[in-house]
Amino acid sequence: MAETPLTGERTASILAVFQLLADGLPPDRSWPGGDWPLIGGFKPDWLEVVLGSVLTQNTRWENVENTIPRMKSRGLVTLEEVHRCPLGELESAIRPAGFFRQKTRTIKGLAGFFLRHIDPNGIPRREDLLALKGVGFETADSILLYGFNRPEFVADAYSRRLLRRLGIVGPNIEYADAKLLFESCLKQEVHLYKTFHALIVQHAKQICRKRPLCGQCPLRQDCQTYLRGQRKLDREAE
Ligand code: SF4
Repeated sequence: MAETPLTGERTASILAVFQLLADGLPPDRSWPGGDWPLIGGFKPDWLEVVLGSVLTQNTRWENVENTIPRMKSRGLVTLEEVHRCPLGELESAIRPAGFFRQKTRTIKGLAGFFLRHIDPNGIPRREDLLALKGVGFETADSILLYGFNRPEFVADAYSRRLLRRLGIVGPNIEYADAKLLFESCLKQEVHLYKTFHALIVQHAKQICRKRPLCGQCPLRQDCQTYLRGQRKLDREAE
């Protein structure tokens, strides 16, 4: 069942989460200011975001950090070069990111799409990106937000897990509903979307992990998962 997208209470909760994370987490040097950590040297520069958005699928960010320089060192730095590159060579360059066969085809498809459909100053349409094989909601929104500065919130698995654990949404929240919730609650500002998403990722990696470290969490006083655990402990102590 689709989640109810918005109540005043939910808006207040989402805004409070942002503020508590912004105030409570240490500065993250790997994603300064929430911007995509570009190494540079790609033309156009958003190509690096496009590549990273695909390479990060189902793998750790560290593998993307290893793969992007590898592509660069092999001269795969323009749409034309990526599109022209023989499949086997592209697969070899992408291998450290895992699922390299599938990702190679997705990247080829994206390079072809951009070469055919947009001029260097153009902005792709979300529905056109989503029509490409291997491009899901998260990949499309990452490309649009970080590559083209479009206000599209990236409601990735970390965001949805956080909303669920906090008790803001139910257990079956889907991407589209979580995205709508964030976008309904926040001002439509690219910088805010980037910063918030970066904070959620940082929090998910450092604190709200698979096994959460609730004792270190700036959100615990309002978190249903934490409070349930506390109530259980209190009952056991009685
Ligand atoms: S209190 Fe625990 S479960 Fe709740 S958001 Fe923080 S780390 Fe996650």
